[in-house]
Amino acid sequence: MRQTETRGEMAEVPDLWLRRVLRVLFERREASRGEIARATGLDSAGVDLAVRRLLRCGLVRLLGPDRSPSGRRREVLALEAEAGYFLAVDLEGTRVRFGLTNLLAEVRYRWEEPVAFGSRFEMRTFARGVEKVLRNLTPEERDRLIAMGVSYSGVIDREGRITAFNLGWKDFPLEQEIACVVDLPFFLGSESLIKLMAEHWQGAARCCGNCFFVHVANGVGFAGLVNGHPMRGRDGNAGEIGHITVDPAAPDRCKCGKTGCLEAIASSPNIVRQYRELAGQSLPKVLLGDQVMEVFHRARSRDPAAIAVIDRAARYLGLALAHAANLLNPEVIVLGGDLIHAQDLFLPRIRAELARHVLPEIYASLEVRFSALGFDSGLIGAACLAFHEALREPALFAKMLRSARSRPASANLARLAAARGSRAVRP
Ligand SMILES: [Zn+2]
Repeated sequence: MRQTETRGEMAEVPDLWLRRVLRVLFERREASRGEIARATGLDSAGVDLAVRRLLRCGLVRLLGPDRSPSGRRREVLALEAEAGYFLAVDLEGTRVRFGLTNLLAEVRYRWEEPVAFGSRFEMRTFARGVEKVLRNLTPEERDRLIAMGVSYSGVIDREGRITAFNLGWKDFPLEQEIACVVDLPFFLGSESLIKLMAEHWQGAARCCGNCFFVHVANGVGFAGLVNGHPMRGRDGNAGEIGHITVDPAAPDRCKCGKTGCLEAIASSPNIVRQYRELAGQSLPKVLLGDQVMEVFHRARSRDPAAIAVIDRAARYLGLALAHAANLLNPEVIVLGGDLIHAQDLFLPRIRAELARHVLPEIYASLEVRFSALGFDSGLIGAACLAFHEALREPALFAKMLRSARSRPASANLARLAAARGSRAVRP
């Protein structure tokens, strides 16, 4: 194979090949040329051309020679993580997180704005958070900012208007509102789907084509991947597991207007409500998130009312997940949100319900895991979404190739990360 090529030959590498190689390196973190060929379907000459083009423009780097399982020497390749940046926003119910990630969706720094439950979240707060990100970047880093990913909670209608009770939005035209306050290409994804894809790309369900993500916080969110395809439904609202009626006779009223919904029993505000009603006592006047932690703590201290509430919430969560598992035969169910803080309480109870209600053939190959990405999953997922969408958009893809050529300038980001006490980049 020739070691050099002319400018004309380099220009002939189809963008489609480059995109395929970049997707593989994004999802696997590192791969040899042979592994890239197998994953992309390109032949070895095609992979070689694409890789040389990407090495030359600085989007890919050589990690050095390695030995394959058979003992043969091979070159291992990876994305150049600091070759581009994404702005990520997680419009969660109780807080809104803003962050900057590198090309691999690793969070370089982030901060959050609190949101009072149910009060209207104003777009000027959104604009201020984005402006903070931009203000902290050097001109070189700003040049390498490719796009913004946004994770939103709530349901969306056919006109793209969002209703999110937790953010105080009813038929809110989020896309138009963002376009009014931010001059940056952006992509929107629903919170549950974004977090599912984050777990699929980088977390507890890596490379798993059949998985669920369940998020318990102010509501009960759900998203599913079936044979590698996200469940969306006609309007993108598939997976409203929180509004499955788990007990038609239950008096618990849901914010959707029905009674007996899963969310009316198993969401964090309703866990707190049921504990207050059952124990006949109040909880410390702290944030809702801390109150649900207090209920978890009391259950561990053998408080009968707390145990009864956890039993009920976990039983109905397990029942609803069993129905979904029987329908869709997942390999992995990932649990996230406030459940991360109560793994010891929920996991055995949910497993027991699954074992009771899921067909043995489906249950035998089903695993329940907790989110590997924790509270950053919304930011990571939003950046993953922006990366994949940017590959599809010709103008943004061209920018990605172009911006990678400029000299990396990570010193400023390292300083900011240290100043803000952000988590270090994961190894
Ligand atoms: Zn409901």
